Amino acid sequence: MREVEGIVLRIQDYKENDKLVSILVKNEGILTLYGRGMNKITSKLAASCLPFMVSHFVIEENDVKSILQLRSCSRIKLFRNCREDLVKQMVAMCICDYAYAVSKDAIDEVYDLLYETLCILEETKAPELVYAIFLKEIAELIGVEPQVDGCIICGSTSRICAVSINDGGFICENCNSYGYRSSKEYLYLFRVICKARYENMESITYSQNEIIEVLNTLIAFIKQYGSIMSKGNELLLDILHS
Ligand SMILES: [Zn+2]
Repeated sequence: MREVEGIVLRIQDYKENDKLVSILVKNEGILTLYGRGMNKITSKLAASCLPFMVSHFVIEENDVKSILQLRSCSRIKLFRNCREDLVKQMVAMCICDYAYAVSKDAIDEVYDLLYETLCILEETKAPELVYAIFLKEIAELIGVEPQVDGCIICGSTSRICAVSINDGGFICENCNSYGYRSSKEYLYLFRVICKARYENMESITYSQNEIIEVLNTLIAFIKQYGSIMSKGNELLLDILHS
């Protein structure tokens, strides 16, 4: 028997009555646990094993088949607000997808980042801003963060007019061959978020359209340079638009 504390990232149906539960364990990465009978209404495991919940897991290791059997689990942190608010819930699901994808490359950092983000998401009135800062952190973790200290092509710090995903950051009017340009307000917000930490959140103001554009751009950066995305992004952005 082994006991670990972890965050539930993913739950998949397995066979008729069972589930496979992927949890993120600090300094260890992802463990996939076999939850026998979890699909039955009578299962005691199911209630303490929901997406983005922090729980204490008792695992039995089966050496023969290298299967980790989930024996019991008890809830440590529910994140109730994240379950009752649709936007928060969507953000929580999306950040679990990103945590899953980067967990091999950033074993030491990803647990703390995910846990901190869920705690802040639970209390915040600005879930879209939390998500934007989280995506920026993920981009940094995998080394694909946008360059926003000047034009990525010529280095100029004046006449910045757009964010180019293809080039990897800000571009100036001289280097802009794409024909599109962004508003000053958006460019300012994008840079602020690329420099932000959760501690600075209170001082960041934004309009809904600008933050949606920032989210779209960060999502595209991580997809293009890290080949990582979340299926939930589309629905989340739809909800934020409406
Ligand atoms: Zn330039």
